[in-house]
Amino acid sequence: MKKSNIKRILSGVFAMLMVCCIAFTTQGLTVNAAIVSGGKKNYSYKELKTDLKQLQKKYKDHCQVNVIGKTADKRNLYEVVIGNPNAKKHLLVIGNLHAREHMTVQLCMKQIEYYLNNYNKKINGKKVSATLNKVAIHYVPSCNPDGTAISQKGFNAIRNKSLRNGLRRMGGSSSRWKANARGVDLNRNWKVAFKKAGKKGSSGYRGPKAASEKEVQALVKWVNRIERRGKIAGVVSYHSTGSILYGRCASRATKKVRNITTRMYKLAKSLTRYHLMPTESISVARGCSREYFLYKRNIPCITIEVGVGAAPLSGREFNSIWNKNKNVVIREAQLFD
Ligand SMILES: [Zn+2]
Repeated sequence: MKKSNIKRILSGVFAMLMVCCIAFTTQGLTVNAAIVSGGKKNYSYKELKTDLKQLQKKYKDHCQVNVIGKTADKRNLYEVVIGNPNAKKHLLVIGNLHAREHMTVQLCMKQIEYYLNNYNKKINGKKVSATLNKVAIHYVPSCNPDGTAISQKGFNAIRNKSLRNGLRRMGGSSSRWKANARGVDLNRNWKVAFKKAGKKGSSGYRGPKAASEKEVQALVKWVNRIERRGKIAGVVSYHSTGSILYGRCASRATKKVRNITTRMYKLAKSLTRYHLMPTESISVARGCSREYFLYKRNIPCITIEVGVGAAPLSGREFNSIWNKNKNVVIREAQLFD
């Protein structure tokens, strides 16, 4: 290759890098993905583990990673705490209760990195550190890693033989799988108006009894543990798809829970422009996590369904989801600081 050609290529690469740097720095906030890549169709459990390790290493002063339980197929359920773990208030964020909605894991991970990366900068005129000193954010980015492995890699991804054989008997599309590796829908297994229904498979089966699943048990213990340390200000639950929000409460919620949940959904709606859904009757929402938080625990809760295509979403949707949601969680925390 001629010297002049090499020079031309090098200057081209340099120009491209400059463009990238400018594109990823807006209003003084760094949004380049140093650790979490974003934009993948299948962000795997392995990548999640690697990224968590790196985030903890890079941001050790403001980020804790804990294992809060294990799934039936022995995958870890990770909690990421950002900010002051001894804060008086706590905001909880959960993603990926439904297997095929694994785009939410990537979204949560990217939000975590974005807030840590901009810890000493301002978002919406407030320093991220000032908010996180008063309101710690606890993420469980992947509540259903077994189900996610099924959706991304098929039934063979389940290592336990009897679970794997059970899944083959249940049948159905592995990529469209919603449940966990035992064929239980993790968003129908909570102790609220629980009634057995459905049969083992991708969706709708509530389980043999309320909180029968290890994932739900671990999440309930996690909530109890945080509640013993301080006040849980609210819960943000990420699902996909439809670009819709669940934020309304039935009259059985206390006035306080209703008022705070309303503030939370109005803020999320203003940032995402997602469509607000009507209240769901408890007979429809039996065993649902949001109803459990609202009516059993008196904790304000909103559900955000990201994306427009069918789940699992295409990686191409990530950027528009990111642009709508990147500030949602820190802005929700600002409601309570
Ligand atoms: Zn869902």
